[in-house]
Amino acid sequence: MDLGIRGKKALVCAASKGLGRGCAMSLAKDGVDVTITARTLGPLEETADEIRQATGVNVTAVAGDITTEEGRAAALAAAGDIDILVNNAGGPPPGNFRDWTRDDWIKALDANMLTGIELIKATVDPMIERKFGRIVNITSSAVKAPIDILGLSNGARTGLTGFVAGIARTTAQHNVTMNNLLPGRFDTDRLRNTETAAAKNRGITLEEQMAERAASIPAGRFGTPSEFGDACAYLCSAQAGFVTGQNFLIDGGLYPGTF
Ligand code: NAP
Repeated sequence: MDLGIRGKKALVCAASKGLGRGCAMSLAKDGVDVTITARTLGPLEETADEIRQATGVNVTAVAGDITTEEGRAAALAAAGDIDILVNNAGGPPPGNFRDWTRDDWIKALDANMLTGIELIKATVDPMIERKFGRIVNITSSAVKAPIDILGLSNGARTGLTGFVAGIARTTAQHNVTMNNLLPGRFDTDRLRNTETAAAKNRGITLEEQMAERAASIPAGRFGTPSEFGDACAYLCSAQAGFVTGQNFLIDGGLYPGTF
């Protein structure tokens, strides 16, 4: 299917690896010029090259921390007038809420709520003027089914979700949509790091831990960043102009509810 977005411009945050990279690659395959960010230059430039070689689109790489004002300013300056914004950043650490300080909370809110809101604020009005805009926020299945040890993530991402639910209805008439993608378990560095720690705690190998975890998902496997990216590309397509304010859970059937 031609997604009708060839020649559009996207900013995909936190995209040298994992889910962000998957979104950037899928958008590029559909002919979108992409600006990608990450804090570490080496892997970011490698990913930029891979996307260029695979797709032939223009790819700009901007190294910086997207959760800081300077990082966001650099990304926005390099990306120019964007039609598509994919909000993403690393997730907060797990832990016990009794140990978290106000600073821990501010850090999580900055990364997983306020950074997305700042980037929406900086880009939405020009999108409205141009009568096309697609904003996709990468959140987490934990917004729908909270995980106790991920309280910082549950709280911050649910805050972003509530904010987006309110404003998504105000921009739809201008063909500017906002939706959230909620990943379940995807095979990325982040997941492997978490599972490595879990395997160590249990005294089993990473392979054993991964196999057990994958078997707990109805699909019998983890998701791939490219599956995630293709879902993102659909939400950014011309055809998805009537889809806004939604939360799409992509988890291989792990969430057991009817809705
Ligand atoms: P990942 O494989 O570790 O990739 C994270 C990417 O984000 C890297 O490119 C990293 O590069 C970049 N990044 C991290 N913090 C950044 C920052 N402050 N500024 C700019 N770039 C930054 O992680 P992932 O699995 O794709 O996860 C992406 C998001 O989805 C996270 O918020 C995660 O919590 C959430 N999530 C993931 C899963 C899953 O199963 N994978 C499930 C639920 C939610 P640098 O380190 O070089 O900056």
